[in-house]
Amino acid sequence: MNVKLLEKQAKEKFSLPENWEWFRWETLPHPPANHTFVKLTGCPITERYKSGKRKGRPKYSLATSMSVTITLAEHEAYLLAWEKETGQCSACTGSGEELERWHHIDGTKMRPCGKCNGSKKATVRG
Ligand SMILES: [Zn+2]
Repeated sequence: MNVKLLEKQAKEKFSLPENWEWFRWETLPHPPANHTFVKLTGCPITERYKSGKRKGRPKYSLATSMSVTITLAEHEAYLLAWEKETGQCSACTGSGEELERWHHIDGTKMRPCGKCNGSKKATVRG
């Protein structure tokens, strides 16, 4: 699953506005059942923090928030189509990196993407 592309897919599937961003995602149903779909909750972003610790971060509005669902099968198909269309790796969205760990002081540490081995290229053929 690629959460960035999941957001793009949600916007396309539900004709959401360009400034729509998710702030919560959840895989459902809950265990012990196998999860089969993802619920994304978000809202259009009209304002961002101008200063302080959260500078540049979006201001979410519960008043305009809504949830949409995408099945894992739909998302798999979307990732394959995206790879074919762009020629880029869908796991890292063509960045060649994946998150190794995050620490509140050290920040983020990246490693080469496990799917494309850092090549950034799509691994689907067809
Ligand atoms: Zn990759």
